[in-house]
Order: sequence, then structure tokens, then C-alpha cells
Amino acid sequence: MVKKNLKSEYHKLVDLKRQEALHDHCGIFGIYAPGEDVAKITYFALHSLQHRGQESAGMAVSDGRKLRGIRNLGLVTSVFNENNLSKLKGFIAIGHNRYSTTGSNTKDNIQPVILASKHKVFSLAHNGNVINAKMLNSQFKHMKRSASSDSEVITQAIYRAPGSKWREKIMNAAPHFIGAYSIIACSKKRMYAFRDPWGIRPLCLGRLKGYYVLASETCAFDTIGALFERDIKPGEIIEIYKNKINILGYIDNLGKKPSFCLFEYVYLARPDSILNNMLVHEARKKSGQILAKEAPVKADLVAAIPDSGTSAAIGYASALGIPFGEVMIKNRYIGRTFIQPEQHVRELGVKIKFNPMKQILEGKKIVIVDDSIVRGTTIKKIVEILKKNGAKEIHIRICSPPVKFPCYFGVDTPNKKNLIASEMRVKKIKKFIKADSLHYLSLSGLVEASGQGKNSLCTACFSGRYPIKIDTHFNKHILEDS
Ligand code: AMP
Repeated sequence: MVKKNLKSEYHKLVDLKRQEALHDHCGIFGIYAPGEDVAKITYFALHSLQHRGQESAGMAVSDGRKLRGIRNLGLVTSVFNENNLSKLKGFIAIGHNRYSTTGSNTKDNIQPVILASKHKVFSLAHNGNVINAKMLNSQFKHMKRSASSDSEVITQAIYRAPGSKWREKIMNAAPHFIGAYSIIACSKKRMYAFRDPWGIRPLCLGRLKGYYVLASETCAFDTIGALFERDIKPGEIIEIYKNKINILGYIDNLGKKPSFCLFEYVYLARPDSILNNMLVHEARKKSGQILAKEAPVKADLVAAIPDSGTSAAIGYASALGIPFGEVMIKNRYIGRTFIQPEQHVRELGVKIKFNPMKQILEGKKIVIVDDSIVRGTTIKKIVEILKKNGAKEIHIRICSPPVKFPCYFGVDTPNKKNLIASEMRVKKIKKFIKADSLHYLSLSGLVEASGQGKNSLCTACFSGRYPIKIDTHFNKHILEDS
């Protein structure tokens, strides 16, 4: 019955031809630890997950009777301070860093979502993108205010699902969500976590002083002194109460193959995180080594676009025995250029962000390694800047295949027409960015570097093979036009 409904729901969704992702890659964290300052621990964990979202941050803390939240636009350091954190007393905390697409960066969409009705309080932090959110939302028409994000829709769907206990509601609602979702939630007394049956976005479980913690990436555990225990399995639903974990069950995975996002290894995750038993730094280094075999070049120096290309550049340089060094210094105090919505601001951003060192560049043949090219803005500017500053040759090596297809499962990639590799062949891109040579890593090379089986990954942004059927007219701002 559930399956039949899901199918018809999905076809209705496809017919609408206008859904788009509202939520993109985000960082989530949760802790259940009586006797600990859970708000402060969450603050530090969110700090280490800042790379997954820089537009807003928030946390909700429960002391068993009251659930209080702080949420605002901005980085973790600007949202929280000693004063407001000290007011968040309790033993459960969930936190969120948000990264949204243009237009959806409003205060309404900051997470965790907090739902407070007469007798019930529930909070939820979500990473991913539920593609049938609009359709689910249409079922809540009588609500005072229609949900404006897929995460709010998920929360409402859980609240309205059959069952008297939150655990029953989650079990009943979760099978209706289609798409990518790694979720940490809490009521006043319990913490919950679940992950979509495709396992698209990461979610891991750790231990801190005998209690449980949850995070998007293991780097958060290192920061707070927790020990990584295991990944939450695709489709797994858990409840954490006191120092016990209770596996409530699994979301039906019939016909759904595991599809972990390959782009997590390329760019999204921090290099010191372990994803599916693979240290991300190692995967990136290996991708550089494989690319060196696929596309070697004679050069004086290998450099990275810091920081996303660094691990891969180390691998590329070591495989060819060319020195690895820096040719430009990154200003690490400004955000990612990619998140600036306007093209002219984004272009300016590249100049603000990287300062080339003329003394090192002059007369040299340089290999520049980066993780990916999306719109082509960054790499074009970088080639221009390096050449202007005296480099003799610039050879670009990209440690992933051309990004040709948009992501509908939680990565902020633009529509097809703005993806340079979807519009141009590699030769033309090379001309456009004015590089002396340009090579991308093969898909099989990248899969090998990730250490994962090729059938367990989502490679859609490179291959166009989506783990869930997608209408290509799907527009990326799901609830904004409602
Ligand atoms: P561009 O080609 O100018 O759009 O930007 C590509 C650069 O942005 C690469 O160097 C990546 O490190 C980075 N990047 C790739 N994908 C994303 C993403 N989804 N969000 C933010 N930055 C990204």
C-alpha cells in the first residue's frame, strides 16, 4: 500500500515538472549526554562542520522539560557566543549548519526546525534534499503557514503521521520521503536519527564518555574528543535514550541500491573525515596519483587550488616526482566564492581570495590541480592571474570527471546550462580557460580512488545516472513558488 502510494505520488511529482532542491549540503550534529555542557560541545562540533554550510547555523537543546533554540544567519562564530550558549542548558542537543541555494537564504529556513504544539515538542536537523516535498506539503494545506523548506515538510509529515510516540511517527512517515536525507531529531527526552535507504548523504555515530553522538562527518568527533563507532546504515532508523541505542528498524530498500554521493570524496567532505572506512585525504591523494598516470605532464612545480585541491595535488606530484609547492596564498577568512549568488560578485571573489606569488611563478611550467570545475569561473580567473604574474605554462588537472549534470540530492550545483562541461567539450573548455593543457580524471579512476564499489555510489553529476528517477525539467527551488 505504502509502495503504491509512493509510486503515484512520485508520478504526480514528475508531472509538475517544476520541483527544485531547496536544501543543499549541510552539516548536522547531535548529542545525548547528561552531565555534559551539550550546547558548548555542539558549538565546537558545528565549528568543525562549518565547511558543509556557511549561511546559517542553529541548535536546539532540551533539558527534558523545555526545548530551547538559537538559530540565525551567519557562521557558527557569529551566531553563538558565551552568553547565548550559557542559556542553553540540557542533556540533548542537535545542531545544524546550512548551505542553501540562491533565494532561499531566509531566516525562516534556518535549522534545526522546531515544532512546538500544545503538548508536543520536536526538533529536526536535515542534510540532503527530499524531492517529493512539494507534494507532501500540499497535504498540509490547512496549516496556518505553508512549509517553506523540505526539512519543515519532513517535520510536519512526522508530526502528522500515525502513532502516539515520536518513534512510531518517524517509522510511519519515513517511508514516504523520496530523496536524500540524513536526519538527526529530538523530542524533549529522546534523540533520533535516520538516513534514506539509498544512503546518499553521510551520517555517523560516535561515543563520548559512554554516551552517543551523531554527526555528518567524523571530523566533528575528533574535535570534541568522541570516538567514531560506525556509519548509520542506509535506511536505518535509531533512537537514543540515556546511554542506549535502539535500532527501531529499516526503511524499505526494495529496488533501491546504495548510492553514496561520490562528490563527497571529491569536494564536500573534509579531508580528515572517514567516509565508509576511507579517509577522504587518502581518496583524494589517490585520485591525484591515478590522474598522474592518466594525464602526466613535464613541469617545474605542482600546486593546488587551496584547499580543495591540496590532497589530490600531493598525490599528483608524488606520482610524477615533481615538487609540490604553493604558488598563491588563499585568504582563509572569507567564505567560499561559490556561494556568492551574483556572477560579477563571484568573479571578484576569486581575486579577493587568492594572491599569486610572482617570485615563484616567473618563467615556470606549473601544474594546477583542483577537485572539480563547475561553472568554470574560478579556474579561468586563476589561469589568468597566474599567467599575468609570469607563469610560462599552466597545465590544469582536475581530479574528477566533468560535472555535466545537476544534483537533486543535496549538492548546490547549478542547472545544466550553467555547468560548463555540459555546454562545452574538454577541448573547448581548455580554450575558454586559456590553459596550456586540461585533463580530467576518468570516472573509473575516481571510483577506484574512493575505494568503494562502483555499484554503491551515486555518480549522477558525472554520468547522468540518477539513483532515483528524475525529471530533467525538474527545477531546483522546490517550495519557493508555492
Ligand atoms: P566554479 O567552476 O567557478 O563554479 O567553481 C569550482 C570550484 O568550486 C572548485 O574549485 C570546487 O572546489 C568548488 N566547488 C565545487 N562544487 C561546489 C559546490 N557544490 N559548492 C561550493 N563549491 C563547490
